[in-house]
Amino acid sequence: MCRRFKKVRRLIKSFILIDYKSGKSNLKGKDVLTMSEAKTKGEELKGRLFMEKKNMGLSKSEEYLEKADLFSEGYKSFINMCKTEREVYDTALSIAREKGYKAFDMSKEYKAGDKVYLGNCQKALILATFGKKPLLEGTRIVASHIDCPRIDLKPQPVFEKDEIAYFKTHYYGGIKKYQWPTLPLAIHGVVILNDGKTVDIRVGESECDPVFVISDILPHLAQEQMKRSAGEIIKGEELNVIIGGRPFKDDKVSEKVKLNILSILFEKYGIYEEDFVSAELSLVPAHKACDVGFDRALIGGYGHDDRCCAYPSLMAEVEAKEPTYTTICVLADKEEVGSDGRTGLNSKMLEFFIEDLAENAGVSYREVLRNSYCLSSDVGAAFDPTFPDCFEKNNSARINYGPIVTKYTGSRGKNGTNDAPAETVGFVRKILNDNDVQWQTGELGKVDLGGGGTVAKFVGALQVNTIDMGVPVLSMHSPFELISKSDLYETFRAYEAFLK
Ligand code: MN
Ligand code: MN
Repeated sequence: MCRRFKKVRRLIKSFILIDYKSGKSNLKGKDVLTMSEAKTKGEELKGRLFMEKKNMGLSKSEEYLEKADLFSEGYKSFINMCKTEREVYDTALSIAREKGYKAFDMSKEYKAGDKVYLGNCQKALILATFGKKPLLEGTRIVASHIDCPRIDLKPQPVFEKDEIAYFKTHYYGGIKKYQWPTLPLAIHGVVILNDGKTVDIRVGESECDPVFVISDILPHLAQEQMKRSAGEIIKGEELNVIIGGRPFKDDKVSEKVKLNILSILFEKYGIYEEDFVSAELSLVPAHKACDVGFDRALIGGYGHDDRCCAYPSLMAEVEAKEPTYTTICVLADKEEVGSDGRTGLNSKMLEFFIEDLAENAGVSYREVLRNSYCLSSDVGAAFDPTFPDCFEKNNSARINYGPIVTKYTGSRGKNGTNDAPAETVGFVRKILNDNDVQWQTGELGKVDLGGGGTVAKFVGALQVNTIDMGVPVLSMHSPFELISKSDLYETFRAYEAFLK
């Protein structure tokens, strides 16, 4: 057996010695480094010239990986608590208040370290910490979105068909519709009653709660369905959610199952059928976030896009003490449907806030905007080895290689993108390198295969130097998305370095 082969075998052996109880590998960084001790001239030159990134499982210490695991525990609780933008809003605001944030007040004078917030319809939130430098020198913005693809109820949702009661729905954001049937769903949201009172609804999350579900046809009878194209395997109008099946005991009335459901809803919440018109109710996967894999490297869960960026940006913002520049953390709504409307970033929400900050400080808000930098903190697609044909490998992000720095998004020849100037990319890259943050770059798949957008172009339009940076995700926009723990934690470190 040759020496090299022995070394490789030893290496593999150290890989498989895993303590399943703690979920930790005993692999130490130095075991790996021994393989590349002696360098030839070419190797040395290559090491200096090539852009070579390492899996963080190799480049980071055990201590670091433990920190990443710990950070991920907090994140998992956060996304289990927050499955709609309203729930993120409530949780983020409580965390912020706990950390000393007060509602922004134009009549007050602010000094470095002061913390303020501005809410928007309980669906979008801006947090800021005043910096040591004058506001005129610009701000540091981290903008993520807190809405996720899901199934919304129509304004008149309750109907009965053949003695089963349903909710009629209209999906929200880009989903593969076939992924949603036969999946236990929870219902989250608010109903505004005729007297203006708000009723909060959250059913399907606790052990004793019922769940809701969209049915699918059994394979035995699916011959015709299987001939449909994938986008139509389940059609939009087939996303009907089962909510009941027991009739109201009265032979005289029709629609007995619907009546029974409405009587239960009235008893529990005081809701009439008309109240659904002024409601925002969404069906989301009922499952909780959990570790994935024997080594627990990944987190599976609903809504990583974009809460795996919102959470680290929120944590980095609330932990900012006396930052150099004024920091701003934007948790926006409506990104998944194009950022339109009052709570999306294609609105005056951020511009007005900065205008108010500037007026309060007695400076030009336009100058503040021009001097500001923004990380559009949104997720990117991770290279999926099962579907390699969708990616151009050299320019794809990989799980465990850190946050993705994305110069441009868009599609079909960079349409609809912010496309950050090289100077902005250089500015951010230097911050990351100076702070020993591991990062990577990545495009959203092959040219002309598809594409996507983020809030970057809306912030860029305000004359803010903007670039995308966020966590790589597998199975993005599915009910159970995947991210890596070290990517999540390193993204937090990146935002922290940017905001400090
Ligand atoms: Mn996103
Ligand atoms: Mn998305």
